[in-house]
Amino acid sequence: MTHPLLIIGAGLAGWQSVREFRKLDSTTPITLVTADAGDFYAKPTLSNAFGQKRGPAQLVTTPAASIAQTLNVTLLPHTTVSAIDTAAQLVQTSTGPLAYRDLVLATGARAIRVPLAGDAAEQVLSVNSLDDFGVFHQRLSALGEAGPNIRVSIMGAGLIGCEFANDLAGAGYAVTVIDPSERPLAALLPPPASVQLQAALSGLSVQWQLGATVQVVNSQAGALSLTLSNGQTLAADIVLSAVGLRADTSLAQAAGIACERGILVDRQLQTSAAHVWALGDGAQYASAASPGAPTGRTLPYVMPIMAAAKVLAANLCGTPAALEFAAMPVAIKTPALPIVAHPPAPGHLGEWVEQVLGEWWFAAADAPERAHGFVLTGTHTSKRMALVKQLQAVVAPVVSAT
Ligand SMILES: Cc1cc2nc3c(=O)[nH]c(=O)nc-3n(C[C@H](O)[C@H](O)[C@H](O)COP(=O)(O)OP(=O)(O)OC[C@H]3O[C@@H](n4cnc5c(N)ncnc54)[C@H](O)[C@@H]3O)c2cc1C
Repeated sequence: MTHPLLIIGAGLAGWQSVREFRKLDSTTPITLVTADAGDFYAKPTLSNAFGQKRGPAQLVTTPAASIAQTLNVTLLPHTTVSAIDTAAQLVQTSTGPLAYRDLVLATGARAIRVPLAGDAAEQVLSVNSLDDFGVFHQRLSALGEAGPNIRVSIMGAGLIGCEFANDLAGAGYAVTVIDPSERPLAALLPPPASVQLQAALSGLSVQWQLGATVQVVNSQAGALSLTLSNGQTLAADIVLSAVGLRADTSLAQAAGIACERGILVDRQLQTSAAHVWALGDGAQYASAASPGAPTGRTLPYVMPIMAAAKVLAANLCGTPAALEFAAMPVAIKTPALPIVAHPPAPGHLGEWVEQVLGEWWFAAADAPERAHGFVLTGTHTSKRMALVKQLQAVVAPVVSAT
């Protein structure tokens, strides 16, 4: 009997792997096992749903049963994989063992939770899945119509924190963002771009507590009281933690598969175990190696998954293919100030050079005539394609505005 191609995870990485595989092979049996319901949704829509008045049900683009039927997949929803036996080519699940011909780990990442004191620390929410969004949406809706009387505190001024701040403030909520950095999106943007973003979000009445962290969350008079590291206290009705994600390597690690910050995969997307592959937020790609990350990087974004799924499908169908990432800028969904960022790969020493206000190029110290990354804001985001072409050619001269 031929065992199926077994995929764990029904996020973009799982479903996109199936789509690409089915383009090449319509008959090999595929089983997709997932802890959630398996419905297909675009995860990036979670952080701009309130502005569009969309709840969790409206975010599902294809129900699980329908996508499974179209792609001829045996779907096992609400089923958790607890162990992998790579020698026997078998996984243990909450409903029994499953044998595989090849196994794809598309198990994603987990929201990082910082330790918090206080009797309401457990009420702090994170949103990294449709189910998480369902809980967040339900708690917020239970507080009444969106309005400045409903206070949302967001821990983290990174990409997801800023996107939620824009979405929730735009929908009318009173939003405060708390972050240990002195400016929003500090890891991604040059300081003047952060200043622009902070001003644009402040224009939507977003309040800031920068250079501070949340230490204690207590319940107080039917709401929440936050004590910050700078000694201030804040009242909130709901607290969203958006302090980052960590690749979920637990299953792979327990099975003896090599992991670092993510599940290590080579350029073919193969893990250290035969017949086991990985992609998506859980993977650490050798194809994304750079001087500062010689064993590769995790790339928790949509575009790397689209590229990886194609290469994975070819390899699973017996056509050897190697993954090469093209330049993949990230569009940050802050309509108050649209931003497109392509940070330099880790290890490139250099500095941001302002071309005009709204356009920055990263000039590497060892090759200052070249741009190794860029950030565009506002109307300058229209130059995205032109800059991607220049990056790919790696011949972009950096011209200082001063
Ligand atoms: C709010 C938000 C906004 C974003 N916006 C953008 C954006 O604008 N642009 C962009 O490029 N990227 C964005 N991203 C990132 C992007 O959405 C992710 O990179 C991508 O969706 C990850 O897909 P994935 O399939 O790897 O992981 P996931 O979607 O996390 O899927 C993991 C799957 O594995 C299953 N699973 C895990 N463990 C087990 C187990 N043991 N047994 C069974 N099933 C298991 C889960 O149930 C789930 O189905 C955003 C992310 C968030 C959270």
